[in-house]
Formats: sequence, structure tokens, C-alpha cells
Amino acid sequence: MMKLSEITKVYGNGALQVPVLHDINLTIEDGEFVAIMGPSGSGKSTLMNIIGFLDYATSGTYELNGEKIGKVKENKLARLRNEHIGFVFQQFFLLPRLNAQKNVESPLIYAGISKRERTERAKQMLEKVGLEDRMKHLPNQLSGGQKQRVAIARALVNQPSIILADEPTGALDSKTSQQIMQLLVQLNKEGKTVIIVTHEEEVAEYTNRIITLKDGRITDDRRKSL
Ligand code: ADP
Ligand code: MG
Repeated sequence: MMKLSEITKVYGNGALQVPVLHDINLTIEDGEFVAIMGPSGSGKSTLMNIIGFLDYATSGTYELNGEKIGKVKENKLARLRNEHIGFVFQQFFLLPRLNAQKNVESPLIYAGISKRERTERAKQMLEKVGLEDRMKHLPNQLSGGQKQRVAIARALVNQPSIILADEPTGALDSKTSQQIMQLLVQLNKEGKTVIIVTHEEEVAEYTNRIITLKDGRITDDRRKSL
């Protein structure tokens, strides 16, 4: 469970302070599938970065599974990220010179896992996203949807309990977007907590809860009645 209490975020300092998040109170239970919506500049990515330990809140508290996370050192932040979070982004961020398998393996290299086990796990993850026949392809030999599948396989390779996807379908056509959302639905059914940012209503429809941000505040938080 994630619990954010009175979270604020201010970028910059002195006269150049930019307040971006105000008084965010939000609890997300394990296994939820959540969409964060709202206009450009409303603070969606900032909130995702705080939830995913890519950035700190300026004030407020963040509890993950009952553990309060304060201003910890970068190496602790990195450990929390690696242990709990898989990230997916609109622009995929695959390493262009590495094939699909090596891209998926890359987080495991830093974890000091043997080559043999890395290969085995990358293969399993690529099978899971339906790309077992594209292991040796380079990113530029793959379609947009296939690249996003590789990115999702990479996000899964550390076995995180939380998947954070910032506009995962933003660069994809509508049919491919649906396929990516179906994959995220499947991962959620398998028990992952999935949080996505999206601008598109039809993408948000796949989730069970829609949170709306406006000017750095939560203005709506709606669970789908099942
Ligand atoms: P969204 O994802 O909803 O479009 P962001 O969280 O990216 O919004 O940005 C919210 C606001 O914070 C914007 O006004 C943006 O310009 C500002 N912002 C984002 N990142 C930084 C930064 N590193 N330094 C200063 N301002 C930033
Ligand atoms: Mg954004």
C-alpha cells in the first residue's frame, strides 16, 4: 500500500520557486489499477516521479507498505526503486545499440546477476509480452508497440510489485494502444499495482480508478463501480 499525506513539491529556490504539487493526500492499495489524468503542466509526471522514488517531495510523508520514506540518500532511493518499481515511459527509452534481450537484461547487470540467469529471465519476460521471436532485434527494427512491449518486459524483470507508466500509449496509434492496455490489464490481474498517466479517456477506461489533477491538486478521485 502507498500512502501519500500532505505531499507538496516546489521546484527551484529563492525567487525562482515554482510550486507544482499542493497538499496531495492519496492512498493506493495493492493491486489497484489507477489512471492519473489532467491538463499538461498539472503535475502528473512530478507525482509519478515521487511515487516511483525518482524524486523527493518538498514536504509531506510517503509511506510504502507501512514504511515511512523521508529524505533518504540517493543509494537508498535507488534501492527502493529497484526493489518495488518498474517504469514505462511514452518514449520507451530503450538503449538503441542493444537488442531486445539485452535491453530487458540491462537492469539485472547492475544487480550483479549471472549472465546465464539474466538471459533466462529476459527470455521469460519477452515471452510474457509476446516477443519471444524478436529477442535479437534492435529497437529500430521494431514497431512502436513492440518497443513498448520490450520496455514493459524490462520494467518487469526485477519483479516489481508496482508498475508506473507515464503516458505509455502517447506515441502509439489507437489499435496498438489497446493492445498495450490489454497487456497492462493482464499484469494487473496477475497482482501488480499499475498506475498510468494518460490524456485519453479510452485509455483511462481500462483502469478501475481515475484521479484528476489540476494545478497540482487532486480535483477528482473516482472508483469504477464493478
Ligand atoms: P504534467 O506531467 O502534468 O504535464 P509536470 O509534472 O511535468 O506536469 O510539470 C508540472 C509543472 O512543473 C510544470 O509547470 C513544469 O514546467 C514544472 N516542472 C517540471 N519539472 C520541473 C523542473 N525540474 N524544474 C522546474 N520546474 C519543473
Ligand atoms: Mg507529464
